[in-house]
Amino acid sequence: MEPLAVVFDLDYTLAVPRRDRQTLLDEATEAASVDRISRAEYLDAHGADLASETRAPIFEAILEEGDPAEVATHYRRAVEEALVPFPGVAELLADLGACYRLGLLTDGPTRAQYGKLETLGWGDLFDAVVVTGDLPAGKPDPRTFATVLEELDASAAEAVFVGDHPIADVQGAADAGFYVVQVIDGDTEQSPAADATVATDRLADDLRDLLLTQSRLP
Ligand SMILES: [Mg+2]
Repeated sequence: MEPLAVVFDLDYTLAVPRRDRQTLLDEATEAASVDRISRAEYLDAHGADLASETRAPIFEAILEEGDPAEVATHYRRAVEEALVPFPGVAELLADLGACYRLGLLTDGPTRAQYGKLETLGWGDLFDAVVVTGDLPAGKPDPRTFATVLEELDASAAEAVFVGDHPIADVQGAADAGFYVVQVIDGDTEQSPAADATVATDRLADDLRDLLLTQSRLP
């Protein structure tokens, strides 16, 4: 395979919040003076709503009282401020960009995900950015992968997908026909659908090996 394009997931693939998500949630609910929300409750509601502009509908589904939009704004700011890239990622993306068309395909509310990109300063590193908040559904819906491929003017057979989630990223991209690299850390469930895996603590070096020397690609 001679890949033309590399498409990345964002959260837990290229960057992670440096503080745990429950702490960030607690700060947001406290700042908005509403009841505490557990990370599990949040994830359930988030999974049911991957196609919104903000997180307000997620909080609306959980909260019995209070202003969901206010919680969403506090939470967005807390997450943006806490987000850090894995080491070497910005340099890796710049180098890959010289050889490939680069795409980002990320699940989540539109404003939240573009806010993260802005915080990271990576807006110019990608040739195409697709946030599923702008689409009818999130990953692994095949339309999400088709949209980013169309924007990159590449076919799945010409593209590599790099992501962490076993279903949304790995199974979804494999079903869409990508060569799939799964990013794993100690807690990640490894997917049999992945063609290759890289560990988060060696992400930049291993992706550089894999994608710039291509020695491990078929
Ligand atoms: Mg992810």
